[in-house]
Amino acid sequence: MKALVFHGANNLAFEDKLKPTILQATDAIVRITTTTICGTDLHILKGDVQTVTDGRILGHEGVGIIEEVGANVMSFHKGDKVLISLITSCGSCSFCKKAMYSHCINGGWLLGNSIDGTQAEYVRIPLADNGLYLLPPDVDEEAAVMLSCILPTGLECGTLKGQVKPGDKVAIVGAGPVGLAILLTAQLYSTSEIIMIDLDDNRLEVARTFGATQVVNSSDGKAAERVMSLTHAAGVDVAIEAVGLSQTFNICQAIIAPGGYIANVGVHGKSVELHLERLWASNITLTTRLVDAGTTPMLLRMVQSGHLNAKKLVSHRFELSEILKAYYTFGNAIKEHALKVVIKNTITINVD
Ligand SMILES: [Zn+2]
Ligand SMILES: [Zn+2]
Repeated sequence: MKALVFHGANNLAFEDKLKPTILQATDAIVRITTTTICGTDLHILKGDVQTVTDGRILGHEGVGIIEEVGANVMSFHKGDKVLISLITSCGSCSFCKKAMYSHCINGGWLLGNSIDGTQAEYVRIPLADNGLYLLPPDVDEEAAVMLSCILPTGLECGTLKGQVKPGDKVAIVGAGPVGLAILLTAQLYSTSEIIMIDLDDNRLEVARTFGATQVVNSSDGKAAERVMSLTHAAGVDVAIEAVGLSQTFNICQAIIAPGGYIANVGVHGKSVELHLERLWASNITLTTRLVDAGTTPMLLRMVQSGHLNAKKLVSHRFELSEILKAYYTFGNAIKEHALKVVIKNTITINVD
């Protein structure tokens, strides 16, 4: 089969790999119909993620059709259309019992990381009963694939961890796909104001169409001052960091109102300065977490009922054979005006 394979930093190839087979009785083999590229895949491509080794098929997002199930897979059958979660979980370890599936000692983020992923014609899904969701026939595939990673990440690590409540003033730093996923899910909680902060005017314009009430271009280094003036010096109730840099984390620290929540979503490669000399008396809460994807069933219902327009996040569409072009477009997102790029597998013919 054809697959997108990592061969070290800045070295990807679209090449032939062996079709995966059932290794454990709890596995399923899924024929991918739709996949996409995550910001995390770009980190891998740069060589930032040490667990990803030469020869790995990338991708942790996808929708597909079950081709084969192991003897112990109870909830799924050949021919089922499924959404693939980025998180593999056993459901029975101490972390799974606390609903911290991302820390599952038998799973976690494995796909496209320590095992082969979804940017291929087929993928093997371990512990399939927990990592797959039956896709209702009326849910659009492009909308569904936004629920593999990005929307649970935005909801769980940003909106929920930041305790967004009705009437809150919220600031989101970073208007990339994850920032926009936070913007979409924060609005489910009837916020009074959402201020979007980014370096790029085009992304800020997109954020307006997604429901941002104010936008602030941070390229002059004065974003915090601007937010304070927009909030009449009060600051915001929730500041969500969706970039992963010290500058963007500093904006959150500078604009948080007493009693507020700073929710970190960004992946940080370097340390940041924590300004406790200012914040020690401000009753703030600082949160971090990995995405557990426990909200996926709820998000599926929101998409199905029309309350969450997940498909809005899709800006470009490619065939699986064009995946290197898709990587270029997503990797140059600002220049290409790209949000999420959807990739369709039209290589594999369904023989059923
Ligand atoms: Zn992801
Ligand atoms: Zn577990």
